[in-house]
Amino acid sequence: MTTVTGPKDLRSQPDSNSFLSVQDLHVQFATEDGTVRAVDGLSFDLARGTTLGIVGESGSGKSVTSLAILGLHHRKTTKITGDIHLAGQQLVDAPRSILQKLRGNSMAMIFQDPLTALSPYHTVGHQIAQTYRQHTGANKAQARARAIEMLARVGIPQPAARVDDYPHQFSGGMRQRVMIAMALVCDPALLIADEPTTALDVTVQAQILDLLQELQQQTGTAIILITHDLGVVSNIAHEVLVMYAGRAVERGHVREVLTAPQHPYTWGLLSSMPRLTTPVDVPLRPVGGVPPSLIDTPTGCAFHPRCVYTSAVPSTDSCSSVRPVIAEHTSRGAACHLTAEQRQDFFAHTIKPRLG
Ligand code: SF4
Repeated sequence: MTTVTGPKDLRSQPDSNSFLSVQDLHVQFATEDGTVRAVDGLSFDLARGTTLGIVGESGSGKSVTSLAILGLHHRKTTKITGDIHLAGQQLVDAPRSILQKLRGNSMAMIFQDPLTALSPYHTVGHQIAQTYRQHTGANKAQARARAIEMLARVGIPQPAARVDDYPHQFSGGMRQRVMIAMALVCDPALLIADEPTTALDVTVQAQILDLLQELQQQTGTAIILITHDLGVVSNIAHEVLVMYAGRAVERGHVREVLTAPQHPYTWGLLSSMPRLTTPVDVPLRPVGGVPPSLIDTPTGCAFHPRCVYTSAVPSTDSCSSVRPVIAEHTSRGAACHLTAEQRQDFFAHTIKPRLG
């Protein structure tokens, strides 16, 4: 079970039930134009064996959050504050040696494009085996056997024969499987998958998502799935965190968020998604306006310049002056000043009919 809280300073203790606890996380980059607030007070918890889908447009802070968890930001140019606890270990400001040990052993990442993440100069077997040896001290023969075992586990046919092939000898879907094998070779307790199926066709995409679910059932791995695709989230995630301008704007169980979304930004994401029931002559409705500057984030609710509700219904000044937060210690909620009744009414009468 996961919970989300607002951007207050909650740096006391992580939730004792959570495996990963992110509390009041801020990630800032210094640029010539000013400070980029890429993540701006984000808090969430994740339990073992569950999947959290983090969704939002490009620049909403999804990937920056995952790189902060993995400790992959450049320390000289990035300022990170807040708490990230993984199995009780504080990761913010942890020594490099600790983070290096945890990456691979306790946490791993799969990327959108395996071609850029895998080395073209080494066989896939060598790359998987090296990762295994680095973290376990296994000898060459043991690591090779483990690489073959992992290729079999992710569904590569004839793994003993393919272990000596190079990445370019695999199809896109098979390369993604190889990357999953490499990420899981040390049985990490946390897997972060950043747009893992974006570059794949829908059939292969479904296979990869099935594979992730299957592996999670076998190992109890906690998964963070980063995506802009609510369809992918609906297939695999237990909980969803919607991000906008580096902040959490909605949180809840996947079915609740997708069938009864509470935040106007989530309404926009759902309205811009193609559906089987939508007639071909009905245009999709992208979220109006443009994503905000993260150097000069709008005051109050960062979504207010694009909000479909405030442009349709005269609203209070608080939208542009007071930052809304998700109520603390709740597993379901939205960072919005509207009352639950106002949101339900507008969604039922204005948004839902457009969704088909
Ligand atoms: Fe829209 Fe106001 Fe809610 Fe922000 S707080 S999403 S501007 S209604």
